[in-house]
Amino acid sequence: MHLKSLTLKGFKSFASPTTLRFEPGITCVVGPNGSGKSNVVDAIAWVLGEQGAKALRGGKMEDVIFAGTTGRAPLGRAEVTLTIDNSDGALPIDYTEVSITRRMFRTGEGEYEINGDRCRLLDIQELLSDSGIGREMHVLVGQGRLDGILHAKPEDRRAFIEEAAGVLKHRKRKEKALRKLESMGANLNRLNDLTAELR
Ligand code: ATP
Repeated sequence: MHLKSLTLKGFKSFASPTTLRFEPGITCVVGPNGSGKSNVVDAIAWVLGEQGAKALRGGKMEDVIFAGTTGRAPLGRAEVTLTIDNSDGALPIDYTEVSITRRMFRTGEGEYEINGDRCRLLDIQELLSDSGIGREMHVLVGQGRLDGILHAKPEDRRAFIEEAAGVLKHRKRKEKALRKLESMGANLNRLNDLTAELR
């Protein structure tokens, strides 16, 4: 599995549709200060579901949408597509190529797609959770991030390791099942009360 390409449309400084193609091995992005190198990394984090504006070096999530320049009007939406080569079947999906798209409008609405089909963020997280490209983005190591991990609280560090080990997905499912069980229990109690009243 490797990242094949990244397409940015209206994401941060990338007003015009731009596609970067990656080959297996090491890719270096070079350019002058402020030319958008870090924006490329932000786009990868964002398309994979990053929810924190701060993690994307912005004040609010809307800041990922091209804000305009002196010669160019602001845009109404940002869109990023990340295509992953899955010919080794590392992702549990019957496609040799998987494209993940995230779109966001100025109204705040957003949407996700897997290979062009609308989906929930949860579907993307589940698809990627065993691959090492997870919700916590530990595949993206930004400046100062290693320091952050070393100084993290033990529970945060545990969550990080759990995600790397693919355990987080099962923990989330367990939490969901427990919540369901709890609401079933409440329904059952209500049913018992009603039955008692009818007797
Ligand atoms: P450095 O080498 O200094 O770290 P860089 O190449 O990593 O720089 P980035 O931080 O990726 O550069 O890009 C910064 C540029 O992106 C700035 O010029 C900033 O104005 C622009 N930018 C960020 N968000 C937006 C946005 N929403 N709309 C338009 N431009 C934006």
